[in-house]
Amino acid sequence: MKRESGHQGLDHLLDSNRRWAEGSVREDPTFFQRLVEQQAPKYLWIGCADSRVPANEIVGLLPGELFVHRNVANLVVHTDLNCLSVLQYAVEVLRVEHVIVCGHYGCGGIAAAERATPLGLIDNWLRHIQDVAERRRAVLAPETDRARRADRLCELNVLEQAHNVCRTTIAQDAWSRGQPLCVHALIYRLSDGLLQDLGFAASTPAEPAAELASAIERIEARVKRR
Ligand SMILES: [Zn+2]
Repeated sequence: MKRESGHQGLDHLLDSNRRWAEGSVREDPTFFQRLVEQQAPKYLWIGCADSRVPANEIVGLLPGELFVHRNVANLVVHTDLNCLSVLQYAVEVLRVEHVIVCGHYGCGGIAAAERATPLGLIDNWLRHIQDVAERRRAVLAPETDRARRADRLCELNVLEQAHNVCRTTIAQDAWSRGQPLCVHALIYRLSDGLLQDLGFAASTPAEPAAELASAIERIEARVKRR
């Protein structure tokens, strides 16, 4: 009996999948056939694993149009073979033209890093966010409101991760080959569903450091104006 109920646990998902597949074919009879033959996405999305930030939906892209990597708090860690493999495959094999690092306000990973209450293994992962907070202490310190401080850390984290993408051998090699590749930093607001560009766009090896510095200066100026 127990086994049966376990098997039925996903029935509604499988039903919904059948309806989605049938609907997709009704709208476009060659939809799946085309996807079988090739995928040619222009974008790689590196986003948070948060269930409220579904990559394709929020930018209105169909299957086949967005290559996606998600982890807790959209981190790009230089020893993370999973993220690096996705990046390498996206850039060198699929030849995406844009890498988008997308964070979001109200990120549980950022909040947990700020609270620093022990959660287990994930604390090691969140340590990277604490490193960002420490490195950018001067920007964050004047922000006395806790919620706003967390928002600023969400923004700073996205910027640092976009900068990390630029520093990988993968982005550096693409640029030295003359392959077009632009790295961007976006942030998503759960409360209105809108994406905001954090003003970081790097498409040559000379740009990332200056883009990071000027984007951070804009955050700093906003904090001080308050
Ligand atoms: Zn998140």
